[in-house]
Amino acid sequence: MTGRIRRAGIRYYIPSDRGIGRMIVCDRCPGRAVIFQKYSGSHLCSRHFQEDVHRKAREVLRSYRIFGGPCRVAVATSGGKDSSSLLVILHHLFGHREDVELLAVSIDEGIDGYRPRTLAAASAVARSLGVEHLVVSLRDEYGVTTDGLASGGHPQGPCSFCGVLRKGLLNKTARNLGADALATGHNLDDEAQTVMLNYIKGDVDRLYRLRPKRAIPGMVPRIKPLRRVPEKEMGLYAILRDIPFENAACPYISRAMRQEVKDLLNGLEAKHPGTKYSIMRGFERILDLQPPGSYEAIPCAGCGEPSSDGVCASCRLLEQVRGEESL
Ligand code: SF4
Repeated sequence: MTGRIRRAGIRYYIPSDRGIGRMIVCDRCPGRAVIFQKYSGSHLCSRHFQEDVHRKAREVLRSYRIFGGPCRVAVATSGGKDSSSLLVILHHLFGHREDVELLAVSIDEGIDGYRPRTLAAASAVARSLGVEHLVVSLRDEYGVTTDGLASGGHPQGPCSFCGVLRKGLLNKTARNLGADALATGHNLDDEAQTVMLNYIKGDVDRLYRLRPKRAIPGMVPRIKPLRRVPEKEMGLYAILRDIPFENAACPYISRAMRQEVKDLLNGLEAKHPGTKYSIMRGFERILDLQPPGSYEAIPCAGCGEPSSDGVCASCRLLEQVRGEESL
């Protein structure tokens, strides 16, 4: 197979010999290459491509020093390609260890026609691996849904509420489960977008808060094993491993500024391969400049969750929603 294929809405380049009938082989074995990584200049077959993904994940995980002894890891699973692949990868790397426990956790934000389908996919992956799967909802926890917030006429877009509430609820759920870490499926593209968004908004505090595995009372350390794997490669990995995932896009995605940043970075990456890695390298150098102890967590007066100033982001938003609804 050569040329271009489109699977699950993602376009993949399948290396060819530019039309003279010979297949392109892997740089590491005589097998047929399934990907050309422009940023590394490597052609890789299915096996070596998967090993490359595992290597990147393993290297990131080593830096977190979580899996050195017994541990319980909550894995945030949305049913998309990244988090579903993350669960498969962690199971592949640690499933043989009796002292490592993986638990899949999903948040139901209340988005009709979208979230039920992705939750079904998340359940299918967890079940196939024999991993326990827990679903918690914004409605049960906070009495709100993203659909309700989106139609409520609030000045912010739905993602401002949804993202903050989901993050807070994931942390609370992981903490209640006694997890030593909360693993999320953020890939290289997600991370580079977040860094760029914070640059654009001039939000240096939030930029510093992206520091991996910060030790903050009340916060389960967040780990992002896929942060060095490009998004397209995660899609290819999921396809090659036949991982069930739901590729439907959230109906509110077009209202998010992140989408504009994503398009911008994809354009830059196409012209200048390696741009996303450069952004992350620069960000890591900036993190080294952060003064020690510059972020202290204060328990939120409303719910006790960690906050920077005594009121957590979830309580602040919920207070705003209730205030606007009572007008
Ligand atoms: Fe929530 Fe926005 Fe993500 Fe949709 S795109 S799930 S509204 S954060």
